[in-house]
Amino acid sequence: MPVSVVPYSEVDVLIIGAGPAGLMCANALANARVNVRIVDKRAAKIAAGQADGISPRTIEVFQSYGIGERLLKESAQVHQAAFYNPSASGGIELTSRAPDVTAPSARYPFEVALHQGGIEAIFLDSMSALGVEVERSTIPTSLYISKDENELADPASHPVRVALQRLDVPEGQPQEEIVHAKFVVGADGAHSWVRKQLDIAMEGEQSEFIWGVLDMVPDTNFPDVRNKSLVHSNHGSALLVPREQDRLRIYMQLEDKDVIDPATGRVDKERIGPEELLRVARRSLYPYSLNPTTGILWWTLYIIGQRVASRFSVENRVLIAGDACHTHSPKAGQGMNASMNDAHNLAWKIALVVRGWADSSLLSTYESERRKYALDLIAFDKMFSTLFSGKPLTEENSDGVAPEHFMKTFQKFGGFTSGIGVHYDPSVAVLDRNQELASGLVIGERFPPYKFIRAADAWPFEIQDLLPSDFRFKLLVFTGDYSDPRQQASVKSMVANLQTPESFLNRYTTPGKSSENSRFDIITISKGRKDGFDFLQFPTLLRSHWSKVFVDDIDMSGSFGGTGYSYYGIGPEGAVVAVRPDGYVGAIAPLDHVEELDAYFASFMKISA
Ligand SMILES: Cc1cc2nc3c(=O)[nH]c(=O)nc-3n(C[C@H](O)[C@H](O)[C@H](O)COP(=O)(O)OP(=O)(O)OC[C@H]3O[C@@H](n4cnc5c(N)ncnc54)[C@H](O)[C@@H]3O)c2cc1C
Repeated sequence: MPVSVVPYSEVDVLIIGAGPAGLMCANALANARVNVRIVDKRAAKIAAGQADGISPRTIEVFQSYGIGERLLKESAQVHQAAFYNPSASGGIELTSRAPDVTAPSARYPFEVALHQGGIEAIFLDSMSALGVEVERSTIPTSLYISKDENELADPASHPVRVALQRLDVPEGQPQEEIVHAKFVVGADGAHSWVRKQLDIAMEGEQSEFIWGVLDMVPDTNFPDVRNKSLVHSNHGSALLVPREQDRLRIYMQLEDKDVIDPATGRVDKERIGPEELLRVARRSLYPYSLNPTTGILWWTLYIIGQRVASRFSVENRVLIAGDACHTHSPKAGQGMNASMNDAHNLAWKIALVVRGWADSSLLSTYESERRKYALDLIAFDKMFSTLFSGKPLTEENSDGVAPEHFMKTFQKFGGFTSGIGVHYDPSVAVLDRNQELASGLVIGERFPPYKFIRAADAWPFEIQDLLPSDFRFKLLVFTGDYSDPRQQASVKSMVANLQTPESFLNRYTTPGKSSENSRFDIITISKGRKDGFDFLQFPTLLRSHWSKVFVDDIDMSGSFGGTGYSYYGIGPEGAVVAVRPDGYVGAIAPLDHVEELDAYFASFMKISA
């Protein structure tokens, strides 16, 4: 009798789940040339619906992977928010309009909306060009993490074993495969199988909130149908989000009586369908009319609690991301954003560890950074939900929610909801020193945008475009005014310091000359005027290529630029800023004590074997 042998394979990273979190992770790892596989139980990417809001910070992140232009082209931009409240005549009326985004340093001061399938398609095409495809109709059936301490400590080992089962292969062909992985990422959504295998608890409120969601192309006389509208009515609250191709998304928080079967106490999806949801939406929007022109394009009952996983990783070998580790209401538009930004935070750390450039302890900062963010998100969601779902302030309801209070809260938390203000606390990846050298930057926050002039050809460049999300740290050397002899001396001594054998630049090198092997990218930004500026005057370390030197001056048309130093709060003495591969400020050092960066990099970087 033939003995069936289960195929066995090895991979650096196995990702389970190809939603926004898994795809962001796979695309980032593929970009970093990491050997990655991604599987999903679905036979195809989702066609419609689910999440759709992308925050300003997430647009920046897309841009950093070279996929921002497509996102901007295919999505609808949301610039303005409108607030509706009960009117004296029993319906609703416009009480105010405000910018949808209140984050002054946002490069894109708006949100965009595109259905989740459209977001997934952007990743799928980007990954496909890098040779990575989602393996569909595939589920994991068992997961085992080695208990051997030596194996766990060895960065070259594959201590996680996952049995995969193909659901779509004909009878008689192998359906099972055992994958030995260095790392496994569980990005398998709110009901995560991976999380359950790891016995990780979801902590927080046990109660679930029920949202009705409708997508349509509307025929309506509601004047803010192309703005984000937060509608507070005596007949229920609704959130309207304008979408691509004239579409409209409507969220309604439902009451238990609408969806709970009193006999069982459980949600009964048969009790409410798209027609009933449309009636609920119409009640909230009265006296405005609402008619779908081509029917309801998608609808769902989205049942969600406010919970955070007690841990995001086991042994820093199996890590969970996205809805697998936090769930919350869709109102603040954070589900897909939080999930993709988990993966963005995690991917470069895994890439560095797989390359042997960083100690696996760097991975602990994934949980410390993203779990704190998730807890903050849940706290915000609870506060905002209470305001959103609370009864409006009226004569009969004196402790209701006042329209101004609601609008002010919406604006006050703009830094958080835009993703721009996300802050990572000190850790091996965030060195909290020398903040005063660049008071306009925040150590632990993303590097803000500004346009500098490329010295060699006077071409203006957005600095964020010089900080792509690859596996390299960017060293931004703000030299001060190089025509000042004192600054020249200071810069020359910094360069001499960086060239010593003990310097991180020389300690953490990888054999081979290709850019693939380079861990650092040095960008020089000088004070001064572009006219007569000679980029060749800088020591060669600061101009590895002619395109690496910039000057803080106004552009040729005289319309922007020239105040970057003051915007970043950098004085005439200059500074060196180490920006992490995910675009966050990791450390700042003075030019004359650049060796302070040695300690920063030594805390997680490894010398190549
Ligand atoms: C039905 C539904 C409706 C939603 N509606 C909204 C909404 O209206 N607004 C909003 O903001 N958010 C909504 N969400 C949430 C939003 O989609 C998520 O917040 C966001 O997609 C999180 O991304 P993620 O990658 O972490 O998880 P998901 O998008 O859930 O992706 C998880 C992926 O893992 C796969 N998977 C799951 N289990 C396994 C397994 N055992 N093996 C292999 N693959 C597996 C799934 O097929 C899926 O592709 C909805 C989610 C669902 C499920």
